[in-house]
Amino acid sequence: MKAIKVNEYGGPEVLSYEDVALPEPGRGEVRIRLAASGVNYIDTYQRTGLYPRELPFTLGLEGAGEVEAVGDGVEEFSTGDYVAFAGVPGAYAEYIVAPADRLVPFNVTYVEARMAAAIMLQGMTAHYLTHSTFPIEEGQTILVHAAAGGVGLLLCQIAKLRGATVIGTVSTEEKAKLARGAGADEVILYTEQDFAEETERITGGEGVHVVYDSVGKDTFDKSLDCLRPRGYMVLFGAASGPVPPFDLQVLNQKGGLYVTRPALAQYTATREELLWRAESLFTWIGQNNLDMRIGGTYKLSEADQAHRDLEGRKTTGKLILIP
Ligand code: NDP
Repeated sequence: MKAIKVNEYGGPEVLSYEDVALPEPGRGEVRIRLAASGVNYIDTYQRTGLYPRELPFTLGLEGAGEVEAVGDGVEEFSTGDYVAFAGVPGAYAEYIVAPADRLVPFNVTYVEARMAAAIMLQGMTAHYLTHSTFPIEEGQTILVHAAAGGVGLLLCQIAKLRGATVIGTVSTEEKAKLARGAGADEVILYTEQDFAEETERITGGEGVHVVYDSVGKDTFDKSLDCLRPRGYMVLFGAASGPVPPFDLQVLNQKGGLYVTRPALAQYTATREELLWRAESLFTWIGQNNLDMRIGGTYKLSEADQAHRDLEGRKTTGKLILIP
């Protein structure tokens, strides 16, 4: 079978489309024929070595497809079932072997396999950020950076479902239009405007209850200035680079702020939480309450181009790879 391997850390050019052996499921595992794999920003961190993995490895953490072989001890799934996953390494491939307890079943009549692959990682991230890290309450005001990105568009929509007023930041007018379409009440072009000043103006000097910041280095300091006293800074990514070491006394000076740096694995640690988040997303998609925008579809062999586009800020919504 074909897979995208990383044999050395580096730029998109290190993504190597290779023949590899078809993996066999062990006890508690199933083999899935992938209909699509999701591209996520974390894949670029693993490719460059910012988040190191033992070399060589097959990239990718997210996908969906049909169960094709079942290992001993698996009772929940049979061949022919459709399943989706996030956080299982080796998804940039035609087939993957995954632990059955990390899989979420879905009904392919209601949710297309490509959609299921697309929603898992970014969707469950938007879910835990809005429901668990900072459970948004009706009437609260939130700031979402990179609001037209994969996580961003979902975060805006789910925050609206929870009754928030949403301020989004984006780099271009085209992205601003998409963020508004996802429910953002106000959109700031943070490449042209000072987003802290704009947030102060929009909120009448009150500040927001929470900032969801996946941009990191370029936005972190100013994001603290957007918060009302005792507000929450949720730093969940580093698209512009990691935030340097930070003086905690600043949190006192800026109003007794909270900072957290969460990751999806902490919020899908139990099967119950995993199913709650994924099934909520599938239900919203099935009921047309959530628009899953697939902004780019690439062949598996073109994963390098998907990475160039993602890192070049050229993309909107979700990118998927088709084997
Ligand atoms: P996006 O589709 O959001 O792409 C990243 C976006 O970040 C770009 O489109 C761009 O939007 C913005 N950006 C700002 N500055 C830069 C820069 N210097 N270089 C590149 N992009 C920049 O990606 P994802 O939805 O896949 O991920 C978004 C973020 O969320 C990532 O940081 C990722 O690591 C994080 N994440 C964290 C998770 C967690 O559990 N902690 C889980 C999932 C994702 P614009 O042009 O509008 O500025």
